[in-house]
Amino acid sequence: MKVVLDHLTKRFPNRNKKGDDVIAVSDFTFEIPDGKLIGLLGPSGCGKSTTLNLICGLEPPTEGRIFFGDDDVTRLPPENRGVGLVFQNYALYPHLTVRENILFPLQNLKGKNKLPKAEMEERALAVAKLVQIEGLMERKPSEMSGGQQQRVAIARALVKMPKVLLLDEPLSNLDARLRLQTREEIRRIQKETGITTIFVTHDQDEAMSISDMIVVMKDGVVQQIGKPQDVYDNPVNLFVATFLGTPPINVFDGEIKGGMLYLGDQAVLPEPGIGDQQVIVGIRPEGFILDERGPFEVKLNRVEVMGRDTSVVSTHPASRNAQIRSIISARNKVDPGAETVRFSLIPDKTLVFSVEDGNEALWRETAAGDRNTP
Ligand code: ADP
Ligand code: MG
Repeated sequence: MKVVLDHLTKRFPNRNKKGDDVIAVSDFTFEIPDGKLIGLLGPSGCGKSTTLNLICGLEPPTEGRIFFGDDDVTRLPPENRGVGLVFQNYALYPHLTVRENILFPLQNLKGKNKLPKAEMEERALAVAKLVQIEGLMERKPSEMSGGQQQRVAIARALVKMPKVLLLDEPLSNLDARLRLQTREEIRRIQKETGITTIFVTHDQDEAMSISDMIVVMKDGVVQQIGKPQDVYDNPVNLFVATFLGTPPINVFDGEIKGGMLYLGDQAVLPEPGIGDQQVIVGIRPEGFILDERGPFEVKLNRVEVMGRDTSVVSTHPASRNAQIRSIISARNKVDPGAETVRFSLIPDKTLVFSVEDGNEALWRETAAGDRNTP
């Protein structure tokens, strides 16, 4: 089922009565393609949960409309929208078994939607198998791990065969290993069922790893929508660039002079096509090449060998961060006793942003034309 958000806005009166309204979601327009998994991503308070609440009908929008397929569902109550919901806290009924928890939404169906008992049992077992908890059907929630409980919550959301599945930070209560495993599971389940799914998280790694497309939000405003790799490679502004990537992008104050990019007094890269100006520069950790004759010289702090990779931690007067982190292959040996290290920079990994409000990306020209037109 395709989901269309058409100029959705949600304003809340300020909690301390005197202040301005809070614009939780501002003019959000997006056509979510059928059968895809969309990662809705952004820091706490940026409007992710409000967006989900608008889509499922728990909150009415202040402005704008929502369509499921061709149907305008903006005024439809949540129970008639055919959405499945999963939250951070699994919200299972503690006194019911897994089986009873999964059956619960079916037992509440009324009138013509009512199902025969045998069919309810059949469906409950089918979704339990899908999330691989069919062996735990007679347990109570307290007798299961967090990961298992979250699977039950997902099964319960799926048992009514929703047209749209909405997941609000579903992995936040799980420990690191379970988080990894469960996100792969969610991806598998989503692919197997083909349900259009919106997955909300503040964890960029999580969103990047399982989403067909990501939507990055800040202060209620959509910053960028695209395939995870495209957004990572070509962020539209400094906020998106810093929000995506672990370790994070290294940020510098720089200057463009006569077609060259300067960090301090070092001319580090040619920048054809960007006029002379002060800029902000982001260099991805993987954007550094160890190079004795490289133009970018940093003061070495320490070298951390992490198996496959070596992390070079350094400082530079133009850096906005206390430390610069460069990831290079562990085959490259860096003398940990050296005072300084020299790098050359990979152009695709060196991003230039305006110092003006919004810090928009400045695109350099390449032989093939513009590097990217977002
Ligand atoms: P997220 O899920 O991304 O953390 P939310 O959608 O929960 O963000 O909140 C977005 C903004 O809207 C926040 O500033 C929050 O304080 C505000 N907000 C959310 N719900 C309400 C409400 N019922 N009344 C007033 N403000 C709200
Ligand atoms: Mg939230």
